[in-house]
Amino acid sequence: MADKRDYYEVLGVSKSASEDEIKKAYRKKAKEYHPDLHPGDAEAEAKFKEANEAYEVLSDSQKKARYDQFGHAGVDPNYGAGGGGYGGGFGGGFDFGDLGDIFGSFFGGGFGGGRQSNPNAPRRGEDVQARVTISFEEAAKGCKRTVDINRVDTCTECGGSGAKSGTSPKTCPDCGGRGYVNVQQRTAFGVIQTQKSCPKCQGQGKVIENPCAKCRGTGRTSNRASVEVNIPAGIDDRQVFNVSGAGNAGVNGGPKGDLRVAVFVRPHPYFERDGYNVWLEQRVSYPQAVLGDTLRIQTLDGDVKFDLPAGTQSGAVFNLKGRGIQVLNGRGRGDQLVRVIVDVPKNLTQRQKEILVEFEKELGVKRGAPVGNGKEGFFDKFKNKK
Ligand SMILES: [Zn+2]
Ligand SMILES: [Zn+2]
Repeated sequence: MADKRDYYEVLGVSKSASEDEIKKAYRKKAKEYHPDLHPGDAEAEAKFKEANEAYEVLSDSQKKARYDQFGHAGVDPNYGAGGGGYGGGFGGGFDFGDLGDIFGSFFGGGFGGGRQSNPNAPRRGEDVQARVTISFEEAAKGCKRTVDINRVDTCTECGGSGAKSGTSPKTCPDCGGRGYVNVQQRTAFGVIQTQKSCPKCQGQGKVIENPCAKCRGTGRTSNRASVEVNIPAGIDDRQVFNVSGAGNAGVNGGPKGDLRVAVFVRPHPYFERDGYNVWLEQRVSYPQAVLGDTLRIQTLDGDVKFDLPAGTQSGAVFNLKGRGIQVLNGRGRGDQLVRVIVDVPKNLTQRQKEILVEFEKELGVKRGAPVGNGKEGFFDKFKNKK
């Protein structure tokens, strides 16, 4: 007990840190050490508990003030020798609503997750996920798609109030609209006052006497929705884009969540993506490579004319500027890179072989001697001198 770490040190904040900075620092630690991420790791669990404890004190202005003045002894009756004299130290009560909010967002529930101290405060709707599979060309140039999703919308019958038309929700008489009630708890350390969710209104702060039949008083209904989305040009396989405000309806007039669309791009039979460039392997015949030719080359814009120069080596790369993929959320396009592969014919006829042998003689090729990389190499010079 006596070697408890300083709470500010635990959260990694300075003594002058604002409420917001303390909250942020705690979120970070809670994510780092959350037991769900470290099953069976006792050290992580201890750190998680330590961070919880530090946050519990530093997020409560009264406890924080006592901690700043008296240290651990100011907030923990078990700490140090002088155990008595601060029985009133628990008056503030820890606001679990706030923690609920933190874990709500941590567990991916989005922003609508946990309970809040004010049950009538506007809350943003949750995000909704969808996935689409598109072709290589559609990803390169952008496209429209209709995605079908399950979404929670504001009830059209009651406009979100949850009350039958002609009636409205009433402020909860038990909690006066606060959503929580104070309870006194007798413990070994004295009477502790805490707050719990109001049982009459389930923390909502209001009661609906005549609930809307369509949404059963919740103010929201689940629907199947078709949303047309513009998939941005240049998006790549496994990227996600956001459609703002196309997610679940908010609560108490809060904003809608987003629709998050994960994009899967089918591979292309010939094109290969490399950033915003596109590679194409183009096979040509030996005579075409030797003599040159005007080719029709496949691009994202359809076939284009390309002059293959005479004497093109197999493996040569040509750049078709601006024929690549549209830059995502930007201007311009990448290039198309064409790698030329010279095709070596198989299964020649007798006549074809004879012509080729004659051609070989005409070239002066010596059987058994290797050819340099299209240039006269060391061995060629040596050979020619002989
Ligand atoms: Zn309704
Ligand atoms: Zn109530």
